[in-house]
Amino acid sequence: MLLLDGNQLSSVIRKEILAKVIQFCQNDIRPPHLAAVIVGDNPASQAYVRNKMRACEEVGFASSLIKKAIGTTQTELLDVIAKLNEDNQLDGYIVQLPLPRHIDEHAINLAINPSKDVDGFHPNNFGKMALGFKTFQPATPMGIMMMLDRYKIETEGKHCVVLGRSNIVGTPIALLMSKKTKPGNATVTIAHSRTANLKEICQSADILIAALGIPKFVKGDMVKDGVVVIDVGINKMEDPNSSKGYRLVGDVDFDEVSKKASAITPVPGGVGPMTITALLENTWSAYSKLF
Ligand code: NAD
Repeated sequence: MLLLDGNQLSSVIRKEILAKVIQFCQNDIRPPHLAAVIVGDNPASQAYVRNKMRACEEVGFASSLIKKAIGTTQTELLDVIAKLNEDNQLDGYIVQLPLPRHIDEHAINLAINPSKDVDGFHPNNFGKMALGFKTFQPATPMGIMMMLDRYKIETEGKHCVVLGRSNIVGTPIALLMSKKTKPGNATVTIAHSRTANLKEICQSADILIAALGIPKFVKGDMVKDGVVVIDVGINKMEDPNSSKGYRLVGDVDFDEVSKKASAITPVPGGVGPMTITALLENTWSAYSKLF
């Protein structure tokens, strides 16, 4: 069984990005600059944003964190976005999700300048991705594709089952896996909360990508021998033996499924770090004005 180690692979790719920054940013040329906007004090969101800012440091990028109070109105947030859109010292930015309920996520996404949309959620970029244009791709699916590519996992002609149809993971990864690309060229099934015969569908998967948000949902008897498993889930599970009182688990029962899998991502340390690495790649692309 091959462990698809997102920490190790990210470290290799981040060194490559740092090398590009060192080579390009000499003689007072400023480095790439990523900003993150966070509204409220959700601890998980704060941890994600902290990791993203830390990753910027690792690759020599400048970073800015814009913290807004939970009571920030949609109009106030749109003002922040308008300023970021106009800031020519800033290459890309993200608005950390989820946003408080009183703010319409779609309105915020639409306001982001597509050329600074390093999360790839703006409809312009999502549409370009769906049509096969080069553009910013949502970071999690992009990170998964980078991982399949670097680990040379064969995807062509394989049956890929995606569990989950969210806009940020399930739908875009299904699209990317079905494209005439390498990796890609897979035959894709999207399964979701209303799918019938889910177990049988999972059992027919050569590649299983789980993005449901249900701890240890995928069990050993749901997969076939030799399956490649990408576990996107990040779920908290109570654990009195941990100093924090909990530990992070994926959507896949790792102990059971890893016994049958030919390759599998761990949680933590699989898709999570690759997501941040993809965000850094997108920021480099924004800086280089690639799209
Ligand atoms: P979501 O809640 O938006 O979507 C969940 C999807 O799962 C839905 O499409 C739903 O139809 C499907 N689903 C729910 N119950 C199901 C069932 N019983 N059978 C089949 N399908 C079912 O979630 P999301 O934002 O896509 O995130 C999914 C998981 O991935 C979460 O654990 C999240 O924390 C994690 N995540 C991780 C990263 C990362 O960087 N590793 C990034 C984003 C999300």
